[in-house]
Amino acid sequence: MPNIIPAVEAMSQHTIQMDDGRTFYDMSGIDNPCLGCAVCCMHYRVSFYQGEMDSQPGGYVPSDMVLSLTPFRACMKGTEHAPGRCIALGQDGLCTIYENRPSVCREFPALMPDGTQNPECIRLQTLYGIHRK
Ligand code: SF4
Ligand code: SF4
Repeated sequence: MPNIIPAVEAMSQHTIQMDDGRTFYDMSGIDNPCLGCAVCCMHYRVSFYQGEMDSQPGGYVPSDMVLSLTPFRACMKGTEHAPGRCIALGQDGLCTIYENRPSVCREFPALMPDGTQNPECIRLQTLYGIHRK
């Protein structure tokens, strides 16, 4: 993984600014703002650079859970078509490879910078008929 520059804590969603300019979010804390609906793990094609696979130098995403799309891009198995279900999504709705999830998953926040819920979460929950409290 790239080096982490500073870590900023906003509510219980941890924002991590990477040295390559990307922003990652960590919601592993028990008080994290993710509602755990898991629709983001079922709706999108979860694709990323093949260099993130653990078969590549410095990679970490389990290769046996990955489908090659092109010589450069891969996706999590089960997300080739929507609606799908990422192979790494546990029956309890939690990611079974959280520490080794691909960058695209790390870049998806539950909260926006102003503290409101990510509108894309709301859109997907509406699309899948998930009613929020
Ligand atoms: S759609 Fe949003 S609230 Fe639902 S699991 Fe994904 S990040 Fe969490
Ligand atoms: S790797 Fe984990 S966080 Fe990413 S889509 Fe799959 S289950 Fe969700």
